[in-house]
Amino acid sequence: MSTLTIKILFSIFWLATGFIRSPFARRNKSNTITTDNKTGVEKMTLFGTMLGLMLLPLVYLLTPLLAFADYELPSFAPFIGVALMPFTLWLFYRSHYDLGRNWSVSLEIREGHHIVDTGVYRHIRHPMYTAIWLWCIIQALMLHNYLAGLGGLVGFGLLYVLRVDEEEAMMLREFGPAYESYKRRTKRLIPFLF
Ligand code: SAH
Repeated sequence: MSTLTIKILFSIFWLATGFIRSPFARRNKSNTITTDNKTGVEKMTLFGTMLGLMLLPLVYLLTPLLAFADYELPSFAPFIGVALMPFTLWLFYRSHYDLGRNWSVSLEIREGHHIVDTGVYRHIRHPMYTAIWLWCIIQALMLHNYLAGLGGLVGFGLLYVLRVDEEEAMMLREFGPAYESYKRRTKRLIPFLF
């Protein structure tokens, strides 16, 4: 696959994630937030995720500025990336759809918040993070650059590691035994496995 084809396919994927998220983000702006757990660390890791998943790929796709950090991968790597795209976009969409008004970019509880345990939340607690992990893997397989390709894995990886326990603790404080029982019935990222 030529570099140009890879860049075009990745750009389409990247834009699709934005199209999927934006109507949910617009709608949830009117949510009344009752609990805000956005700490300084959370803000920093959110910035790191934006840098790794948005800014660096954009600079790589549109300018030659990051060329000094290019790496090589076997020629089949981008094909694996492309093969992962449909499922990743579907899961990214479904997790936003199923979470509905309960979704937010950060750690927040809104007025009328309830536990979602149906749809893609039936067997795993963090399907949106599963989708974003897959997005990071696709990015590393398609953008052959230490900064733009691996930036997502590093940025989101840090956010995930520092956030997931906090998020579950927040849900436990808010919903007590109901979330405890949901935790017992589910895995974090991969159904029945992990
Ligand atoms: N971790 C989830 C959701 C990410 S969005 C996922 O990966 O799919 C983060 C927000 O979603 C949190 O601030 C929390 O308020 C909310 N949230 C997380 N799990 C939830 C659930 N099962 N039901 C309702 N809201 C949830």
